[in-house]
Amino acid sequence: MNNWKNEQVLIVGGGIGGLTAALALERQGIPSQVIEQAAEFKEIGAGIQLGPNVFWMLDRLGLIAPVSALAVFPNNLVMRDSITGEEVTRISLGDAFRKRFHHPYALIHRADLHNVLLDACRNSNLIRLDASQKVVDVKEAADGITVKTASGRDYRGAALIGADGLWSTIRQIVVGADQSKPAGHITYRAVLPTSDVPEKYRWQDMAFWAGEKVHLVLYPLRTGELFNLVAVFHSNRYEEGWDSFGDPAELHERFASTCEPVRMLLNKIESWRMWVLCDRPPIKEWSRGRITLLGDAAHPMLQYLAQGAGMSIEDAVCLADKVVAANGDYASAFRAYQQARYLRTGRVQIMARIYGEFYHAGGVAKELRNMMLGSRTPEDAASGMEWLYGRQAELMSGAAASS
Ligand SMILES: Cc1cc2nc3c(=O)[nH]c(=O)nc-3n(C[C@H](O)[C@H](O)[C@H](O)COP(=O)(O)OP(=O)(O)OC[C@H]3O[C@@H](n4cnc5c(N)ncnc54)[C@H](O)[C@@H]3O)c2cc1C
Repeated sequence: MNNWKNEQVLIVGGGIGGLTAALALERQGIPSQVIEQAAEFKEIGAGIQLGPNVFWMLDRLGLIAPVSALAVFPNNLVMRDSITGEEVTRISLGDAFRKRFHHPYALIHRADLHNVLLDACRNSNLIRLDASQKVVDVKEAADGITVKTASGRDYRGAALIGADGLWSTIRQIVVGADQSKPAGHITYRAVLPTSDVPEKYRWQDMAFWAGEKVHLVLYPLRTGELFNLVAVFHSNRYEEGWDSFGDPAELHERFASTCEPVRMLLNKIESWRMWVLCDRPPIKEWSRGRITLLGDAAHPMLQYLAQGAGMSIEDAVCLADKVVAANGDYASAFRAYQQARYLRTGRVQIMARIYGEFYHAGGVAKELRNMMLGSRTPEDAASGMEWLYGRQAELMSGAAASS
């Protein structure tokens, strides 16, 4: 396998996961071809949170500086009660947090993060990017993979990474037609110019109000130019869907009993985009021969730990390391990659569901939650996050061994 780095890897999907995979391979001298179905490489207009665990990976990719230049670094994570408006708990993200987890907690516009990745890909002569190409078929041979797109184009590579999201075509080939699982939760997202947010709510925090079957998230983006709003409520009315317009009347009805600041903020938005939240139960194997999955295609999760994109970034770094360690034996590299990743990503998938229940608790469960969270010391809170953000996260990502 002397010249294995001469042959490209095919990556289906040019979202955060797919582009990061291309960069992680590129950093190891491995060429790739990214194939994206949309007419352009782009992300939706909403915010994304990046925990310190993601910064371990950005460090490996040499991307801390461009991401940090566009990010907001909030002072606190703050949870309030959506009915009384009272603070339930607060985690300071200042010096002690950064020291403990070695990296900060950041908020960034998705388009900005995606553009940093896209620019880095475009600046590399090892990465080729094609839009408007929907992969519809995959052929495996002993020495490589060929994919066919809806427009009739064929691409050939030494291996294939399916980074094609929740409704992954490549997953159907590797894992079979397992259905995604609607959580019965709906998300409405919007961004507000800061001038529309009353001054007393322009917190430099990742803040949210949690209530029975609802919550609202508010945080600043783009060095304070914008605020990101994410409203979540329970509803089984919808089929699976992604990025369609929401019905403000239903939203206002669900939040009718929440406190004044929550209703005031919801009233500021005229046009919401709606998502029907889905995940899948964790699986242990998502590779077959020279084909593997990454990001939401492998382990889609609810957003309650704000880690779906983070996990795809960790996947990418781990995967590239395993390819190098296996000296281009893709089948064995992909087995090693999924082995290194499935417990970590499975834990985040399971915990995200539990956190969703926790945030949306009512009655005694809510009282218990408020009591437990309210009585934590800062040390308790930080220890509780160690598995996700700490050194252990870097180890579990499978990326530490060669760093
Ligand atoms: C409301 C909400 C809030 C969230 N907040 C956070 C957060 O704060 N932090 C965080 O880390 N994560 C968050 N997430 C999760 C995060 O958005 C996803 O986990 C992440 O975007 C997954 O990236 P991906 O690249 O795996 O998939 P996607 O972003 O879904 O990208 C898949 C790409 O593949 C393309 N594609 C699909 N099929 C084909 C095909 N057949 N051929 C070619 N191309 C194809 C698609 O067009 C798309 O560009 C949130 C999610 C939601 C819904």
